[in-house]
Amino acid sequence: MTFTEIANAGIRHLQPYQPGKPRDEVARELGLHQIDKLASNENMLGPSPKALAAIQSVLADCHYYPDAGAYELRKALANKYHIEPERIILGNGSDNILSLIVRCFAKPNDEILYSEYGFATYAIIAKAHHAIPRAIKSRDYCHDLRAMAKAVTDKTAVIFIANPNNPTGTFNTHHEVRELLDTVPTNVLVVLDEAYYEYMQESDYADSLSLQAEFPNLITTRTFSKAYGLAGLRVGYGICHPEICDLLNRVRLPFNVNSVAQAAAIAALEDATHLQNSLRMNQQGRQQLLAGLADLEINSIPSVANFITIDVGQAAQPIYQALLQAGIIVRPLLPYNMPNHLRITIGTAAQNQRLLQALAVCLQTATN
Ligand SMILES: *Cc1c(COP(=O)(O)O)cnc(C)c1O
Repeated sequence: MTFTEIANAGIRHLQPYQPGKPRDEVARELGLHQIDKLASNENMLGPSPKALAAIQSVLADCHYYPDAGAYELRKALANKYHIEPERIILGNGSDNILSLIVRCFAKPNDEILYSEYGFATYAIIAKAHHAIPRAIKSRDYCHDLRAMAKAVTDKTAVIFIANPNNPTGTFNTHHEVRELLDTVPTNVLVVLDEAYYEYMQESDYADSLSLQAEFPNLITTRTFSKAYGLAGLRVGYGICHPEICDLLNRVRLPFNVNSVAQAAAIAALEDATHLQNSLRMNQQGRQQLLAGLADLEINSIPSVANFITIDVGQAAQPIYQALLQAGIIVRPLLPYNMPNHLRITIGTAAQNQRLLQALAVCLQTATN
């Protein structure tokens, strides 16, 4: 007997999520001091100074358990979005919520639908809960919501739609999402994973909260990890019908969001200036990167988020390795069957500049 043999079947065949390489690891392995991590779509402007002050102010009380109901944070979110706090559930990162949804609603051998090139976590969560992940073919690296609606069977429990998507940076319109919701039976839960919501400027972007009024089977998830710059604290949330919220709360562990994270998130919500600065940095950085990539004749997938996925026109792994040697961590996309692509987080102007310079050198070396 091995322990692997007695483990649940879904977990035996599970390939864990491959996160971006941590900076300390690269520093250790390569003996480098200056490292730019542009691999996990974190906010390179850092956390809001107001969040940092809030963290300091609650640290001395960390011998107390956090507020399990996160009353103040849910109230702050409810005020922001003009909704009832009963519709908000908090997670240890929004991926915690994604997992609670599958735990609540997928029976063994039910199907979980997501898109080809969709966020990798969905398939992992499905397998971990004895459900069957089904990737639906995409179009131009964009979720094909009509194909997804057609793929629904009486075994389908949950549809995950990252909007915009990671790792492609593409998004689905209000019209497309509404059409899907119109087609899908209401006993199928549709999850719009809006991890990059704050970055969205497009007028035809799906307004999921307004759609929830019509479609109670729609769940929205958002996070403090990306634009709000609090990835290390792990706090995200779901917005959904109060009955769904109540069910998710039954399986949520009571102290899943710690007191420091709760305080930081409240302060981050209040710091409109820092958010604006972050969005501006992202827009300018996107222009800077796109111009530099055009000079290098590198194609990219049009992105509305805080990252750009580029096609290096050859196996990307050696370029990834060469960038690492230069102290720049990006994300190779082999797990997504995108062997020629690299995903690059949009950083500060200086980081973007270093990335472009290093990329030029790597490509020169690779072609000579
Ligand atoms: C980063 C990301 C998440 C996870 O965010 P956390 O709140 O940090 O768990 C979820 N979905 C997508 C598409 C992401 O890119």
